[in-house]
This record gives sequence, structure tokens and C-alpha cells, in this order.
Amino acid sequence: MQSHDSTRCPTCGESIRSCDVLIAYRTDDGTSRFADCPGCGAVVHPVG
Ligand SMILES: [Zn+2]
Repeated sequence: MQSHDSTRCPTCGESIRSCDVLIAYRTDDGTSRFADCPGCGAVVHPVG
């Protein structure tokens, strides 16, 4: 079971928590986020 905040890095698969999210913004499809991945250190679009 996953919470609504449970997302993953598309590069390394590390879990991205809400505290790792740098910015969230509205798109036509919903909400997108940029996050600072704690696993690989890259700024990524979390998936999941
Ligand atoms: Zn990563």
C-alpha cells in the first residue's frame, strides 16, 4: 500500500518524499513536480 505522497525517482528508483520536492506546478494533465533525488542527487520528475 502506498500513500499519495509516495513517488519514485525514474532514474534510480529511490523513494521521493514530499520534503524532497523542490516545486510542484499545475499542468493540463494534473500536477507535475521537480524533486531533488536523495538517491542519485539529480533533479528529476518523480513518477508513481
Ligand atoms: Zn535518483
